[in-house]
Amino acid sequence: MKMYKDLNTSLRTIMTPGPVEAEPRVLRALSTPILGQFDPEFTNIMNETMEMLRKLFQTENHWAFPVDGTSRAGIEAVLCSIIEPGDRVLIPIYGRFGHLLTEIAERYGADVVNIETTWGQVFDPAEVILEIKKVKPKIVAMVHGETSTGCMQPLQEIGEACREMDVLFVVDAVASIGGTEVKVDEWKIDAAIGGTQKCLSVPSGMAPITFNSRVEAVLLQRKKIERGLTDPNTQQQTQNRTIRSNYFDLSQLMDYWSPARLNHHTEATSMLYALREGLRIVLEEGLEARIARHQLHEQALVQGIRAMGLDLYGDPSCKLPVVTCVSIPDGIDGESVRSMLLNDFHIEIASSFGPLKGKIWRIGTMGYSCRKKNILHVLGALEAALIRHGAKINAGQAVQAALDVYHNEEHE
Ligand SMILES: *Cc1c(COP(=O)(O)O)cnc(C)c1O
Repeated sequence: MKMYKDLNTSLRTIMTPGPVEAEPRVLRALSTPILGQFDPEFTNIMNETMEMLRKLFQTENHWAFPVDGTSRAGIEAVLCSIIEPGDRVLIPIYGRFGHLLTEIAERYGADVVNIETTWGQVFDPAEVILEIKKVKPKIVAMVHGETSTGCMQPLQEIGEACREMDVLFVVDAVASIGGTEVKVDEWKIDAAIGGTQKCLSVPSGMAPITFNSRVEAVLLQRKKIERGLTDPNTQQQTQNRTIRSNYFDLSQLMDYWSPARLNHHTEATSMLYALREGLRIVLEEGLEARIARHQLHEQALVQGIRAMGLDLYGDPSCKLPVVTCVSIPDGIDGESVRSMLLNDFHIEIASSFGPLKGKIWRIGTMGYSCRKKNILHVLGALEAALIRHGAKINAGQAVQAALDVYHNEEHE
């Protein structure tokens, strides 16, 4: 009989845009004993998680809960619950995840209109607003932090325009939530999706979402039509309007996350413990302090990369603070450098997709991975690996430049 060894994973320094290192407290929470999902102790944990999610999303929305599944489960739940076949959806694309929004919306029968901008940049909000006026969509769906390009789209003006024109505004804040500002109410976002395995430092497997009463009205309307209409002439039409997924039907999930507790799926018990602990850590640290911490380490990383003589990819005026994209120097095999970082230093950084494949590395500064030890470790290791690969860089500068950032901060 074949024997399998005990799990014995390496302790990596994970500096990718997710999954990142989990908070040790979150890993401990994962080993908490199981409760039944209607046990009052458990439903209390569900309610507390909703409360904490509202704070994370900076919203007064009643609805804030995790969808079970990875972040794209949250995106799919929101889109499939509000899109009816033939609905026009405007999706501005500035990286890979705009294509994901498009792919999901199209599968649910949306009439998708895309506008695209060059990778490494974001949209001028005026351009998006002009397009909204032109195509008159029911929904605008956009990515806040594009992990594929390291860029961040300003959302407030677009949100305000959507509200004025009675368009639903859906935002993928998977990468940005918990690491940089995401103000759901102030920016007039109708539905937002967050991620766990990025700046929350909780394992992958849940997608926190929030939505307001404008979205709720659409869901309730669809449910009413689904249940109330019996006229055979309208049956075909009714069928068309039913939310096409059972698992991702937000109207059913609302009943599950309300005091009615109507049975839907079995809540992912251990993941909910993990998310609750991750949120507790975020709120203990404080959103403002947490965002400042992410910025400090991003600065140290950026100064270190620059001091080495490497170039950053992307327009600096719209840089996503939690992902830093570095141009791979000419003649250097990016994958070989990444392998050396992993094998010799136990550090993981990310490669890239599509048009950027082989051209940039992406270094995340997210959640628990975003700390001084890791920044200094990755800079020292990257410098050593580049020298080993024959790259012409300013040796000995990177870690010093990062230390300068930390020391200046301490003396302020
Ligand atoms: C990571 C990511 C996703 C997808 O998340 P999964 O957890 O892999 O489903 C979606 N959008 C953005 C912006 C992301 O960074």
